[in-house]
Amino acid sequence: MTTPAAEARRTRPRKTILLLRVPRPLQRQEAASPSGPSSMEQRRQQQGASYTSPSPPRDRRGFEVALICALRVEADCVQAAFDKFWEDEGKSYGQAPGDQNSYTTGIIGKHNVVLAYMPNIGKVGAAGTAASLRSSFPQIRLALVVGICGGVPFGTDQEEILLGDIIISQALVQYDFGRQYPEAFEEKDTLEDRLGRPSQKIRCFLAKLQTYRYHSRMQNDISLHLKELQQKLPKAKYPGTENDKLYQPLYLHKHHQPLIPCDECAKDEIQICQAARGIACEELGCEEKKLIIRSRLAEAQKQQQADHPKQYEPVVHFGRMGSGDTVIKWAEGRDRIAKTKGVIAFEMEGAGVWEYFPSVVIKGVCDYADSHKNKQWQDYAAATAAACMKAFLTEWTSEDKSTGPG
Ligand SMILES: [Zn+2]
Ligand SMILES: [Zn+2]
Repeated sequence: MTTPAAEARRTRPRKTILLLRVPRPLQRQEAASPSGPSSMEQRRQQQGASYTSPSPPRDRRGFEVALICALRVEADCVQAAFDKFWEDEGKSYGQAPGDQNSYTTGIIGKHNVVLAYMPNIGKVGAAGTAASLRSSFPQIRLALVVGICGGVPFGTDQEEILLGDIIISQALVQYDFGRQYPEAFEEKDTLEDRLGRPSQKIRCFLAKLQTYRYHSRMQNDISLHLKELQQKLPKAKYPGTENDKLYQPLYLHKHHQPLIPCDECAKDEIQICQAARGIACEELGCEEKKLIIRSRLAEAQKQQQADHPKQYEPVVHFGRMGSGDTVIKWAEGRDRIAKTKGVIAFEMEGAGVWEYFPSVVIKGVCDYADSHKNKQWQDYAAATAAACMKAFLTEWTSEDKSTGPG
């Protein structure tokens, strides 16, 4: 049932929503807590009676929320977001015959959740994990694919996307590459490259989350959850604004002449030798003068020099995600797909899960999907995604079993 007012809200021109939807850190604090720093306990009290810790389900049919991770770094952070593990209470839920998955069950906020581990990255592995998950946990109503992704540096409305920011998928778009390097670029275009939109319930929920009130509240919750996660996982600390480096799209990660001589890299502009691909920018002579200035980072650096510097706060972006089996490591290719398919990030598992469950992909940006990408930001990005997943679940409501959704 939609009222005219709700319809008007839903169909409000996108630009208006975009203007409202990236609150400044200060406003975020005010919105969630008008009188000084908020704590998770205060937030729980604000939520009142709706926030009761659930009891253990009788059996596997009692689980309605699933979390899926492909990498250990992702699962580490998601586990750190659990409030309780049922195995610690002596509860075991088993699994269906033939199901090869591994699971961890417990509570996050007001939900009983099951975490499924993927054996490796990519769509095929994700689909296999999701199929088994459905056989063992048939009542799953929401699957969140949580982890890390490559980000497009500027979103569809040119807003900055920085390392550690979180992308929440509004839709998945399948992309595919023959080869991702400039010397041999070949795009495989398929007719069915679009995976489409999520279910009506998820679309309504995402529309709500993007409004100023809920976006602000979620940003505030993410900061609190992130602090808690970092206390449990010190490796997930913020790597520093000076390490968030975005190079100009045409400037490649290679041995730069004449600083670091290399015959192969010197051959022509787009040639990158094999050895250069595994080495840090500093060792190759990638130059700071080729970096693109990021205004949010400049602001954060100013803030660091203040008397009472605040913790750096990642920002949530809603948008389309590219989902495919190839890692994008080339800025021009990244920007081309971003432009033609309207995506703001790239990941590899969502498409596999999408076919089995109503799902949302929540991923922290750990690189810019260019040739300079490295693993330095993976822990932090996995932690911001896990913090966002927890904030997302705080807002998510399970359907009432006795009366239905009305
Ligand atoms: Zn080289
Ligand atoms: Zn580099």
